[in-house]
Amino acid sequence: MKKIEHIGIAVKNLNAANETFKKLFGEAHYKVETVDSEQVSTSFFKVGESKIELLEAQSQESAIAKYLNKNREGIHHIAFAVDDIEAEISRLKKEGFSFISDQPKKGADNKLVAFIHPKSANGLLVELCQEAG
Ligand code: ZN
Repeated sequence: MKKIEHIGIAVKNLNAANETFKKLFGEAHYKVETVDSEQVSTSFFKVGESKIELLEAQSQESAIAKYLNKNREGIHHIAFAVDDIEAEISRLKKEGFSFISDQPKKGADNKLVAFIHPKSANGLLVELCQEAG
């Protein structure tokens, strides 16, 4: 894995959170994107070389809605950049990690993404992401 690509933060209200994080970073988000397949709206902030992704549920079916039913707002996942997501998935499966879905999906910010189940990573929801090109 190359680096932490971004940290995902679950929020109840994206517009309100955008204002808060704009004050925090001194700079507004650079993009807002809805991922229909995941039923989430996202916004992205650049912080030096890193990014912060805010996630708001679009429906009660969304994983973010389910997460916020059980947890407070806050860090939801950490995303790691990889060069070859398929190769990483098969490497990590051999190491015993279980994935939420076996195939990479199109995520926000022009990425192919796959999530490792937090049960197999000490409670951390790990996102692998590869630049979709
Ligand atoms: Zn993410």
